[in-house]
Amino acid sequence: MTSSMFAQELDQPAPIAQAPLTWRETNRAAPAAGQLEIHVVACGVCRSNLHMIEGDWVDGGVPAISPIIPGHEVTGYVSALGEGVTGFAVGDPVGVQPLWSSCETCEFCVSGRENLCHDRKITGEHVNGGYAEYMIATAAHTYHVPANLDLVDSAPLFCPGITAFAAVDKLTIGAGDTVAIFGLGGVGHMAVQFAALTGARVVAVGRTPEHLEVARELGAAETVDSRDPEALARIADTADAVITFAPADAVTAQAFDALKWGGTLVNGVALTLDGFPFNKAQTIHASVIGTRAQMREVLELAAAGKIRTVVDSFDMNTAGDVLTALAAGSLRSRAVLANPGVTTA
Ligand SMILES: [Zn+2]
Ligand SMILES: [Zn+2]
Repeated sequence: MTSSMFAQELDQPAPIAQAPLTWRETNRAAPAAGQLEIHVVACGVCRSNLHMIEGDWVDGGVPAISPIIPGHEVTGYVSALGEGVTGFAVGDPVGVQPLWSSCETCEFCVSGRENLCHDRKITGEHVNGGYAEYMIATAAHTYHVPANLDLVDSAPLFCPGITAFAAVDKLTIGAGDTVAIFGLGGVGHMAVQFAALTGARVVAVGRTPEHLEVARELGAAETVDSRDPEALARIADTADAVITFAPADAVTAQAFDALKWGGTLVNGVALTLDGFPFNKAQTIHASVIGTRAQMREVLELAAAGKIRTVVDSFDMNTAGDVLTALAAGSLRSRAVLANPGVTTA
C-alpha cells in the first residue's frame, strides 16, 4: 500500500470565491480496527458541503479537524480491511452516508435510531470524507451497493436518497392522499419518487421550469411554480401532508398554506416558526438523515429500478468549480465528483 493520495483539503473555511479547497497530495491513512478503506469512485456535492467550506458552521464546531476532506455521499470499492472487519471483501462495491459512526450503546443506537446518537460523527465534517481518492469508513456504517447499480449514479442515494426516504417514511400516506413537496433540488426530486411509491398523489412545488419538468418525469402528478401566486392559491388547503427541503421562511409559509387542517408537515431543513396556530391541529415532524435500516431500503428500491437519481458527473479535481456553480445556482441536477478510471479496488 502506498501511503499518499490526492484529496481536496480545506485548511480554513472561506468564501468559495477565495478557492479554499486545495487538490493536493496528502496522507493516506490505514484502516484501524472496525474500519475499512474505500477506493472512492464518486462523491456527491451537497449544499451542506458548501456551508461547512464557507464557515457557516464554525460556531457549531464544524469542521472539527483541520485540514479536512469534505464530502458525505460516497461510493467506491473496498480497498483494505481493518482488523476484525467481517462481511466485506476487498473489491466489494460500497457506499457511505453522512452518518459515519455512532456510539452503538446509547438509547438511540440500541433502538435503531442511531441517526439521533449524540456522539454521532458526520462524514466529511468530523472526520475526512469523500472528496479524495481514498476514504476511511466505519464498517458498521458502510453499505453494500447492489451489483446492478452504477457507482457514480448511486452516490446521491447516500444523502439526498436517505434524507428524502426518511422524510417520506415519517408520514402515513397512500392512495387517496395528496402530498406536496416544496424545494426541488436533489433531495426534493428523490422525495417526489418515494412519495409517489406510496400511491399518494404528488404535487411538486419549485422555482425553475427545469426542476418542475424533472419532477413530472419522476412521478409528480402536478407541478406548481412557486413564483406564481395564483398557482399557489389553487393548492391552498389541499395537501394531507407537505414536505419541505427549502431553507427559506417564505417557502415554509407556502407549505403551511397548502397543508390541510390536521395535516402533517415534515421538514428536512431548519424552520423559523412564528405564531404556529393550534386551531388547525397540524403536526410538524422534523427529519434528519436516516437510519441504517432505511439506507438499506433505499438501496433495494434503487436496485429494483423503483427510484433513480438525476446526476451530472465532474472530475474530482474540479470540486471548487462545481461548488462555485452550486453557490451560483447554475447546476441542473445533483453534481457528483468522480475519480476517473477507478474500476477496481
Ligand atoms: Zn448531503
Ligand atoms: Zn449512540
